[in-house]
Amino acid sequence: MSVGREPKLIVTASFGVEPKRKVEYVSLLEGALARVQSKPEKVLIYRRPNLGHVPLAPGRDLDWEEELAEAQRYECVSVPSDHPLYILYTSGTTGLPKGIVRPTGGYAVMLNWTMSAVYGLKPGEVWWAASDLGWVVGHSYICYGPLLHGNTTVLYEGKPVGTPDAGAYFRVLAEHEVAAAFTSPTAIRAIRQQDPEAALGKQYSLTRFRTLFVAGEHCDVDTLEWSKKVFKVPVLDHWWQTESGSAITASCIGLGNSTTPPPGQAGKPVPGYNVMILNEKKEPVKAKALGNIVVKLPLPPGAFSGLWENPETFQKLYFQKFPGYYDTMDAGYMDEDGYLYVLSRADDVINVAGHRISAGAIEECVLFHHAVADCAVVGKEDALKGHVPFALCVLREGVKTEEKTILEEIVEQVRKNIGPVAAFQKGVFVKQLPKTRSGKIPRSALSALVSGKPYNITPTIEDASVFKHIEEVLKKNQM
Ligand code: AMP
Repeated sequence: MSVGREPKLIVTASFGVEPKRKVEYVSLLEGALARVQSKPEKVLIYRRPNLGHVPLAPGRDLDWEEELAEAQRYECVSVPSDHPLYILYTSGTTGLPKGIVRPTGGYAVMLNWTMSAVYGLKPGEVWWAASDLGWVVGHSYICYGPLLHGNTTVLYEGKPVGTPDAGAYFRVLAEHEVAAAFTSPTAIRAIRQQDPEAALGKQYSLTRFRTLFVAGEHCDVDTLEWSKKVFKVPVLDHWWQTESGSAITASCIGLGNSTTPPPGQAGKPVPGYNVMILNEKKEPVKAKALGNIVVKLPLPPGAFSGLWENPETFQKLYFQKFPGYYDTMDAGYMDEDGYLYVLSRADDVINVAGHRISAGAIEECVLFHHAVADCAVVGKEDALKGHVPFALCVLREGVKTEEKTILEEIVEQVRKNIGPVAAFQKGVFVKQLPKTRSGKIPRSALSALVSGKPYNITPTIEDASVFKHIEEVLKKNQM
């Protein structure tokens, strides 16, 4: 079957709902259509009730409700297993977002298998992936995975906090009798920042809840331990990428893996993935040594089949640096037992006078300070050492201690745990960190910002005004 390369139909809602505003999808769409050559034949619009009237463009737009009322039943269409199911853009923390292409057959098989092998679910149980539907977690685990495996899937339009409060996750878990759920460490940190004792959550009893899975960014041990305490279930970190479509490393509880793996790890390689750590000379490193995380080819079913209309970049970006391997572009280490510790993107390893220091490891250490709710550590240019780590910290609600004192304590903590070689001395306190909608910190842009260099804000950043706020804080602190 040939694949059409021109859009035929665009499906959209009239509005998206954010806590303090509505997002006008149709005017955004008009703006995008004005800039492209291939226009779709039709636009199908779901007009959300009570949010305002959106007129239909005559001859082009169709109303969802009207079309549904007249729709006929169609049989499924068979496609070859490598038929592209969707194009999905990555979060863009290492540069511009990349349009990855997902093949159909292997993805379906792999997702169905992971629902029991990775997430330990039986058909019929309730599952909740608290993600945006538009990100890979949403595609894989709000939509396809649970439906293929016969699980009820919770579709939540809300945030961890502010809709209406930090008890929302607990309410959804209790009301829907969720057996297992998936969220990001950022979401947990947001709940903890507003409700440090999870007092709001305590009023709900999570009778069916067995396991919480986290991914999307490194889960620091402090956040992990707190979530175990307040949700009262094992909390398992697992690591994956838009490119893989499902976990590359995980604690496969359905295959008998432990629900109490060592703190800080993101699981062991999932069957199908041969994960290795290589140094810059492309040699395997010893256990616990920081290096580049790669996957020996071939990649298993479900992984991406290319970048949309960009085979050269596909080859160059992922397969050139380490021939015979897929370059995940992440940095981390593996312990003697085969557990993987993912610390940051490989680009975010800070070179301090020739020592390779992981930004993620310093963040982990900073987050142990009781006053710090969230933090990003990035490399700041330094005349003497090339780069030095620089911390941007968000304080917990109600902290009264002077910022100067907190910074001194953090510096001491890093010195003790990571060593003076990290040369960590400086940081500022900000109201918020810039994050992508999937909760990732754009460290390379922040590194340029704190070094006083021009920086790029990718379109996936949730609130671009945070960059201005950080610039002002730096100016005020004369940095
Ligand atoms: P994305 O572009 O949204 O697919 O982001 C994938 C990246 O998120 C990975 O390459 C990692 O850098 C990061 N990531 C995802 N899960 C984890 C995890 N469990 N631990 C550490 N980093 C993670």
